[in-house]
Order: sequence, then structure tokens, then C-alpha cells
Amino acid sequence: MLSLVDIHTYYGNIQALKGVSLEVKEGEIITLIGANGAGKTTTLMSISGIVPPRSGEVRFMGKSIARMNPDKIVSLGISQVPEGRRIFPYLSVLENLDMGAFLREDKDGVKSDLDYVFELFPILAERRNQAGGTLSGGEQQMLAISRALMARPRLLLMDEPSLGLAPLVVKQIFEIIRKINSENNTTIFLVEQNANLALKVAHRGYVMENGRISLSDAAESLLVNEDVKKAYLGI
Ligand code: ATP
Repeated sequence: MLSLVDIHTYYGNIQALKGVSLEVKEGEIITLIGANGAGKTTTLMSISGIVPPRSGEVRFMGKSIARMNPDKIVSLGISQVPEGRRIFPYLSVLENLDMGAFLREDKDGVKSDLDYVFELFPILAERRNQAGGTLSGGEQQMLAISRALMARPRLLLMDEPSLGLAPLVVKQIFEIIRKINSENNTTIFLVEQNANLALKVAHRGYVMENGRISLSDAAESLLVNEDVKKAYLGI
């Protein structure tokens, strides 16, 4: 579904990605784990077109998207749940969700997707007229995921969904990630600091170090890999 081939991405003179290649197959959850500053967020930004790679290829459903505008990339079926949620604090829950469907013209589809996200997160239905900024951290994460789903993505990019949330809420969010993947047939690319959780929900994983992929394997194999255990699982 998605392939990155030898991408190099920069912030001015700073090179963040130094030849990243990876693949995501339709229907899977893949996770990218690694230390702070390894380049995980930059990888997502390179896919969504927010920080386009300076060289290399990004292919999605057979199309080259490496130099496309972010809005075009969204309309092809990729949406991103950004790190830190970044909901619109002064807009209501419903208005935030409308923003997610901004590029769509199929009103009936939008309505049924709204029903779907309210079914996934009933608390958002209860708070539909409340300003986003008044929600708890966990509810804001639910809203950020729902806003991304309102674009009806084939591929959902998620950046650190567990960040700053209480363990019970994290558990709930990860159950939903599994559900979105299995019931809604949405492919998921998950970036996480919490490698243990991420590898438990994912089918396959990539490990990133200093702007390069250092390891890739089935998630269950990475969970028992001695180097991964020492470096990322705290075992
Ligand atoms: P974290 O878990 O801390 O978000 P990460 O693995 O997602 O880390 P990136 O945020 O992709 O890592 O950062 C990769 C490298 O790019 C780091 O060296 C970082 O300092 C640098 N970097 C990231 N954003 C910028 C920016 N806007 N300007 C300059 N350098 C940046």
C-alpha cells in the first residue's frame, strides 16, 4: 500500500532522515519505534507531505506522492493524528469533526462516519457541543483520532497517541486502534515511545536510530529480541 524508498529529509541544514526505506501492507498495523529524536515524527511528516523528503520516493497505492501537497495526499486517503493532538480548542467537538471531513463532498458518507466515530467514542457524542479545549487529555486524543477518521482514510498515521495519558485511557485508546484496524479495515502506521504497547498491538515493527531504520521484524519477534528489550522495553 505504502512504500518509502531511500528517503532523505531535512530541516534546513539538519538532516533528520538518512535513507529510510520501509513498507506498509494493506490491512496491517505497523509500528515505528525509537528513541527521542530518532526521526519517527519526521517519517510521518514525510509521508503526509508536511515536511517533504529532499530525495527518495514515497509511493501510495501505486502513485508517487513525495512531492504532492498535503491536502492532495489527504484526499488520496492518508490522514494523520498529530503528536500532541492539536485539536482546535475554541471549536466545538462537532466543528472539529467537520474540519476532518473538509475535503469531502459525499454528505451521506460524512454523516455515517460521524455516527461511526460517535459509536467508537460515545463520550464525544455526549460532548458534541462542548469546546474542544475543555475536554480532558484522553477525550482530546479521542477527538484527534475521530477528526482524522472523518477524512475516511485508507491509511491512518498516528503520532504518539499514548503521550501524556493515564494508563487506563491509554489502554482504551489502544483497544480502539485495534478495532479501527480490524472492523473498519483501516491500515495503521503507529509511531510510539511506548514500544511495549505498540509492539503488542502491531503486526510488524521497524526500529529507528539516528534517522535510519536499524531493524525490522514481526512485532512478536521484536518483543523478544534481546537488543530491543534492552534499548526500548526496559527489560
Ligand atoms: P520524538 O519522539 O522526540 O518526537 P522523533 O523520533 O519523532 O522524536 P523527530 O521529531 O522526527 O524525532 O526529529 C528527528 C531529528 O530532527 C531530531 O534531531 C530533531 O532535533 C530534528 N528536528 C525535528 N523537528 C525539527 C525542526 N522543526 N527544525 C529543526 N530540526 C528538527
